[in-house]
Amino acid sequence: MRKADITQPERLDQEVEFDRTLRPAALVEFVGQEKIVENLKIFEAAARQRSEPLDHVLLTGPPGLGKTTLAHIIAREMGTDIKVTSGPALEKPGDLAGILTSLEPFEVLFIDEIHRVPAKIEEYLYSAMEDFRVDIVIDSGPGAKTIQLGLQPFTLVGATTRAGLLSAPLRSRFGITNRLDYYSSAQLQRILGRSASLLNVAVDSDAIGEIGKRSRGTPRIANRLLRRCRDFAEADVRLAQHKGVVVKDVAVTALAALEVDEHGFDEMDKRILRTIVEKYRGGPVGLGTLAVAVGEEPGTLEEVYEPYLIQVGFLMRTARGREATELAFNHIGVTKRGAPNGQSRLEL
Ligand code: ADP
Repeated sequence: MRKADITQPERLDQEVEFDRTLRPAALVEFVGQEKIVENLKIFEAAARQRSEPLDHVLLTGPPGLGKTTLAHIIAREMGTDIKVTSGPALEKPGDLAGILTSLEPFEVLFIDEIHRVPAKIEEYLYSAMEDFRVDIVIDSGPGAKTIQLGLQPFTLVGATTRAGLLSAPLRSRFGITNRLDYYSSAQLQRILGRSASLLNVAVDSDAIGEIGKRSRGTPRIANRLLRRCRDFAEADVRLAQHKGVVVKDVAVTALAALEVDEHGFDEMDKRILRTIVEKYRGGPVGLGTLAVAVGEEPGTLEEVYEPYLIQVGFLMRTARGREATELAFNHIGVTKRGAPNGQSRLEL
């Protein structure tokens, strides 16, 4: 694993199995996101009482916060199976029709990265979601025929990191929309405690505190850092005296070796902060300009990277653009000084 990968919230290939092992199976095991969990419990109970499928659910928010986990929990709590696909996997209308027609009554269809469903396939989703039917066009030209296929009532759970890219007609067909938020360090510590016992990792509370603080508010990163700390505890001869237990010393050594800084910032976080501070003197800088400067799409900056930097107080969105805060200047090691004309000036 490259060092830079450790703090990125996207799932790494080798993590699929771990994600599955560590996934909470019920809402009671799901840490945090209290409002979402409370509401879901009520919607699920109401749907069960009416013997209806749960209304369609849209889950938005940055990667690694528990969208896939929630989709699986919903299926389990509604007593149904789940079929899993993703926007990029649906290339032809037939791909979607095949999945839709195979759904059992009340089954959950989970579409990850739903913003990447091609437009011509998205249209089939509308009638499927609204009336539980799909209209399939057979042949083309003057002989074209449309046949209507009835579907079993089902629940679509869509997940996206890029809510801004969803079309209005698709978005409006979800009865329940939830945005997942970053986790506090206390919540991450609870998640880490649970993961440690599932993975049989011996870890003390100080080490859990240290890992929780540096996990970028993201359970997937927390779990990943825990596994890497275990590697150091078990295999680094300099830490042999701890006998394989992840104590704080082990966590600090491992996290330093992995270049995870005290806030768990990833490469892009650091690049964004450094660009605003060093290139634009702390800002304000417009989103489009910043995006070009750091080589990322404006929408991804806005929906995936900025929310965390804003939450931890390193970045502000103002009417004039993005501005770095005092915390950001301190982090980069540059002093922000008020210049005589009232403008910010750098002392490098
Ligand atoms: P997403 O679909 O948003 O990218 P996932 O649902 O795959 O995220 O979550 C990544 C991992 O983080 C899961 O394997 C799970 O172990 C863990 N996780 C996520 N949310 C929670 C939570 N609220 N409580 C405990 N573990 C969680």
